[in-house]
Amino acid sequence: MKSRRKFIRNSLAGGALLGTAIHLEACSTSDQAETTEEKPSELPVVVSTWNNVKANEVAWGVLDSGGSALDAVEAGVKVPEADVNDRSVGYGGRPDRDGNVTLDACIMDHGSNCGSVAFLQHIKHPISVARKVMEDTPHVMLVGNGAFQFALENGFEKEDLLTDKSREEWEKWLQTSEYKPVINIEMHDTIGMLAIDQAGKLSGACTTSGAAYKMQGRVGDSPIIGAGLFVDGDIGAATATGLGEAVIKVAGSHLVVEMMRQGLHPVEACKAAVERVINKEPDHKNLQVGFLALNKHGEYGGYAIQKGYSYAVYERNGPHTDDSEFALK
Ligand code: ASP
Repeated sequence: MKSRRKFIRNSLAGGALLGTAIHLEACSTSDQAETTEEKPSELPVVVSTWNNVKANEVAWGVLDSGGSALDAVEAGVKVPEADVNDRSVGYGGRPDRDGNVTLDACIMDHGSNCGSVAFLQHIKHPISVARKVMEDTPHVMLVGNGAFQFALENGFEKEDLLTDKSREEWEKWLQTSEYKPVINIEMHDTIGMLAIDQAGKLSGACTTSGAAYKMQGRVGDSPIIGAGLFVDGDIGAATATGLGEAVIKVAGSHLVVEMMRQGLHPVEACKAAVERVINKEPDHKNLQVGFLALNKHGEYGGYAIQKGYSYAVYERNGPHTDDSEFALK
């Protein structure tokens, strides 16, 4: 349970740091010293938003056999993308208000390479298309029909992603057509996954079908590098879930990583970003935003506005799910 044990140690250093705004070097030096000692037994680690236990298992399999964090996060998030019962990611995801399932995803590695797709339709694994954008194009982001055509050219198949269940729910929703994102809907399965491999390299992936019954063309935070996901191999990685508009406004995941750069433990860094969202959003009592972070030492943690956000962890001593701390008590 690195999140707790080390949080206590680091919060002492972090507290001093917050109070004086100095001693950054001293703090990171002592942290590095203790981490060097623990590193061999404590890596790899994978964490993901919500109850994505199966996704973590798959990612762990890659990490445990010596695979890269990048391969691990891609393989991991493909699990909910393909799961018909997961209603906020990929196949089976809830559609926009016109009945289209539109998907957003991004991926980023230790060396700040990144790829992203948004408003992509008919492709079951947007994360793999995002990785192709990263590896095979000079661009970071492709959207809409351009992303779709790129996927087809690269061997992805066109599929109908709207399931009967999602269609029935959408038709029921049309009777009122009231757009009001529900806090923690079905425990939410939109997945942001962060991993550090045996070589100490970080990567992250984030994939979603976005807010149910959104306007056609709406893109949230999840495919936006710096909002839904950010990785800095020198520092750590962060991802976000919840109301994407609120996350974009504060460049949430980038903010979390920058807070870690200043010496904060991942829990404290996520908390600082949540506090920023709260300060900027007058309606914050009626919305949920949650962050999850993993630093380069394998320490992790999350923080949310509201109760009900959790994250899944897989580390050397096994898998577990943690309830996140939250701001509004
Ligand atoms: N952040 C996603 C979006 O706004 C949705 C979610 O995480 O629940 O599209």
